[in-house]
Amino acid sequence: MPAMKKVALKSPLREIRPREAEAEMDSGPVRVLLVDGKEEDCVVTRQLLSEAQGKRFELEWILGYEGALDTIKRHVHDVYLLDYRLGERTGLELLREAIDNGCKAPMIILTAQADHSIDTEAIKAGAADSLVKGQINATLLERSIRYAIERKRAEERMAYLAQYDALTGLANRTLFKELLSLALARAERSSQHLALMFLDLDRFKIINDSLGHDVGDQVLKVVAERLRSRMRKSDTVARLGGDEFTVILEGIGTVQDATRVAQELLQIVALPITVQDQELFITPSIGIAIYPQYGKDPETLIKNADMAMYRAKRQGRNTYRFYTTEVNGKASQHLALENSLRRALEREEFLLYYQPQVEMKSGRIIAMEALLRWKHPDRGLIQPDDFIPLAEENGMIVPIGEWVLRTACQQNKKWQKAGLPLTTVGVNLSARQFRQKFFVEIVDRILKETGLDSQFLELELTESLFFESNGASTSRLKELKNLGIRISIDDFGTGYSSLSYLKCFPIDTLKIDRSFIGDIPASQADSAIASGMIALAHGLRIKVTAEGVETRAQLEFLRERGCDAIQGYFLSPPLSPAEITPKLKKGQMAMA
Ligand code: C2E
Ligand code: MG
Ligand code: MG
Repeated sequence: MPAMKKVALKSPLREIRPREAEAEMDSGPVRVLLVDGKEEDCVVTRQLLSEAQGKRFELEWILGYEGALDTIKRHVHDVYLLDYRLGERTGLELLREAIDNGCKAPMIILTAQADHSIDTEAIKAGAADSLVKGQINATLLERSIRYAIERKRAEERMAYLAQYDALTGLANRTLFKELLSLALARAERSSQHLALMFLDLDRFKIINDSLGHDVGDQVLKVVAERLRSRMRKSDTVARLGGDEFTVILEGIGTVQDATRVAQELLQIVALPITVQDQELFITPSIGIAIYPQYGKDPETLIKNADMAMYRAKRQGRNTYRFYTTEVNGKASQHLALENSLRRALEREEFLLYYQPQVEMKSGRIIAMEALLRWKHPDRGLIQPDDFIPLAEENGMIVPIGEWVLRTACQQNKKWQKAGLPLTTVGVNLSARQFRQKFFVEIVDRILKETGLDSQFLELELTESLFFESNGASTSRLKELKNLGIRISIDDFGTGYSSLSYLKCFPIDTLKIDRSFIGDIPASQADSAIASGMIALAHGLRIKVTAEGVETRAQLEFLRERGCDAIQGYFLSPPLSPAEITPKLKKGQMAMA
């Protein structure tokens, strides 16, 4: 396979990272080629350059037009001084020919006398400057050369930045598209396969929001370096922006080749990243589209790889998916879902299920967690994981969340009015809801409207919310607390938490994420983590609820460790109000 970069690169500088290029120019003497009509002029110029302060110059001269072009084509000089008069021809003709032959170094035209029209013509033709021989002194010549070189360097830097990502040094979107077109043309000529991979970091936003953009940038740099070091020279790695990377794999024999690379990329990106003394773990989701089966032109291939990446995200992240026609079906389903989601509220398609949280020592139902369900007219009952991310993306979560809050409060009030044992209702909040300016007012109004006493409402927040260490979220939490509402941390242990927030915020309950519960007591690691979390919370006088308790062994383990309450299929799945009411009526669940 041809070395792809060589083919695509128009300017030699594109291959050189900018800093290397600068270093190259700063070291050593400035190499000057003078093409002149007269030998005396060459002597004068040499004299002037030797007098110049600051830079050292190495002058080579050529008399007349003949042979000049061949020397210029060697591209070894930093700057060219071209006499306007070169016998029958002119320095401007030489300048144009040099540019046509790929000359990148700056050129300065020397004229015998001041002539405004030659001056203008020279600049138009691409000269860096034009100087009048009789008026040149050492300082003027040195400065003209230095400016010409510096300007050229700035231009090249701009050209570089226009094609490369400044943060990672990878190809940027513009260059990526150019390289993809070239790669596709080559694949077509050689009847070979090509794989386009889209790689997006999972939950990168959390890192950026919680640890700051500097840390985020470091992570991107490390990931870029890992990708680059894994790939062959002939493969292209690009950063399209944000946390989106692409890889072009040329000349792959089989789909397995692409699979193998995707698996390796998953592994190397997932290695711990140390930034500012902290270890971060990040995983990618990868979408792959194969040429020619699933796209023959750049646009289609890009669209399909992106769609496959989206599917990898939907199916649990930290994985790869190939684009197939079936993905396409999924994507249009996604669009349809989004449209029907927008109308679901007014069509009253949402309902709440409730799952009890039971106190360990008494078996009493201390809370009911409200869990959202969507009764889709064609697709039946849809679980929250399948539409809440979408609702968060498009902002629908705000009105939906308000509906959940009102309905849950109403339901709890209804139970109380019916004389059932008092219990708290737990409502899940999305960060987006919490960030609303008037969120506290909305909660207060709903409590008043429904007549529910605030002590019977518990809001479940996720850790990520606490990273926004801005004053707004702190004061908002305190205001909620002042209303008398309980606050719990949901899915504890799954975010990037520094834990320090636990002592700064008024938190009542920690809910240990079910991923730590599922494998206890068999998994030593999870057992240790769960025990540690319980001890940690108790040290801070915070209650602990374990989520996702499915077995008696788990219950017993948690009981021994002093866990305050449990929730999970072992006691009850989430149920409709009609199904759950009799259980609440008893108020009590068998724990032995
Ligand atoms: P969550 O808040 O952590 O809710 C607990 C989830 O665990 C529920 O899933 C519940 O059905 C499930 N679960 C309970 N016991 C067990 C068990 O023993 N084993 C297993 N494997 N799972 C168990 P669900 O109802 O599908 O909700 C998923 C997530 O969707 C919730 O996780 C919550 O983050 C979100 N969610 C649900 N309702 C709402 C809502 O009204 N607003 C917002 N913003 N998010 C919601
Ligand atoms: Mg919850
Ligand atoms: Mg949870």
